[in-house]
Amino acid sequence: MKTLDIRTMMVMVSVLTLLFSGLLVLAGLHAGNIRGMRQWALASLCISLSMGLAYTQQTPPGNGWVVLCGATLVAVGMGLQLNGIKAFKEERFNWRLSSVLIGLVFVQSFWFSIIDPDVQARAIVNSLAFAVMNALCARALLVRAESPLRTAYWFTGAAFAVQTVMFLIRTAMVLSVPAGTYGIYAHLAINPVSFFIVSITQLCLTFGFVLMLNYRLATDLHKLASHDALTGALNRRSLETEAACLETRYLRTGDTLAVMLLDVDHFKSINDAYGHPVGDVVLQKLTVVIQDAVRSGDRFARYGGEEFCLLLPSTTEEQALVMAERLRRAYAAMTMEVGGNILRSTVSIGIADSTGAGLAFPALVAAADQAMYRAKQDGRNRVVRYSELAD
Ligand code: GH3
Ligand code: MG
Ligand code: MG
Repeated sequence: MKTLDIRTMMVMVSVLTLLFSGLLVLAGLHAGNIRGMRQWALASLCISLSMGLAYTQQTPPGNGWVVLCGATLVAVGMGLQLNGIKAFKEERFNWRLSSVLIGLVFVQSFWFSIIDPDVQARAIVNSLAFAVMNALCARALLVRAESPLRTAYWFTGAAFAVQTVMFLIRTAMVLSVPAGTYGIYAHLAINPVSFFIVSITQLCLTFGFVLMLNYRLATDLHKLASHDALTGALNRRSLETEAACLETRYLRTGDTLAVMLLDVDHFKSINDAYGHPVGDVVLQKLTVVIQDAVRSGDRFARYGGEEFCLLLPSTTEEQALVMAERLRRAYAAMTMEVGGNILRSTVSIGIADSTGAGLAFPALVAAADQAMYRAKQDGRNRVVRYSELAD
């Protein structure tokens, strides 16, 4: 390790982080409303500049002002990285702790570079402050998150954790060398090891940030493609995909699948009387009622304008009836206050199960639709089972 040339590595890290800064700017250009890329790009630029400044200070003790500037730039870069992570996660960022750490780096670098030059003391305090800042970034990323974003969080968080450990070891090693022998270009194993690790972790951090953006975009795109924009319920295509999976599984296991079709009664009159926007809110309120009624394995979609379809795994028509009645009553009992209007609404529900209609989803929906049609004919605000129709 001692034979690794620290100057070459420093130039490499400086050039690479400058390139990463450009890469993060480019990635951020098409990030939509996802935030954080700008802060990470700026952070990379700060780290690149600080490495460039450090390169110019090869003969000890170096220019105190340049050293002060370089150390502060690293601290600002780390603060920006944390700011970017919080912005990406849409969490509130508190600059207080970061400001204290940046201030600490600035003040003690000023003291030990200009007032009372002491390279060793400066390196110890700075390394400790950098360790804390990296630990804060690692803590913000090594958290539970939905897949696949979790993979990107943990990858990036691991890189920050490695940097934290590296800075702690660096602190201990600088503490352990005899006074007056430490310098960034001194022949000590910790110098090339630190720069080697930093060059790898900076690479991993940039990959990690781009991966985070990529996974977030993929997740958002998938959500847009599979959900209804107005209500947030699944769309018809997603429900059909889910139903096809269940059909394959239940053909093997012999389990029962139930389908519930739900249509708002006289919805056109609501639109006519109160306007389309009020109709939209009514649909959103109904979605909440359905959400409260379903179990964790159930799926539901907005199937058409004011029509919702529920897919109930391992459920018979009788069991679905209990749930449908509960849902119908809950919705009918609800008084909605929308745009200054107080209104009530009801739904008609048709249910069918695979015992009566077969496992094929189109057949199940057709059966539930027939039952719903009967519910409408019989006066609305009621639940009808497909098996009743034959009677
Ligand atoms: P029925 O009791 O027989 O179901 O009567 P209905 O008025 O509910 O049925 P109809 O099919 O005649 O009307 C459905 C209305 O739903 C017509 C359409 O303008 C409205 N609609 C469809 N999609 C939306 C939407 O996204 N928002 C709003 N506000 N209205 C919608
Ligand atoms: Mg209707
Ligand atoms: Mg309808």
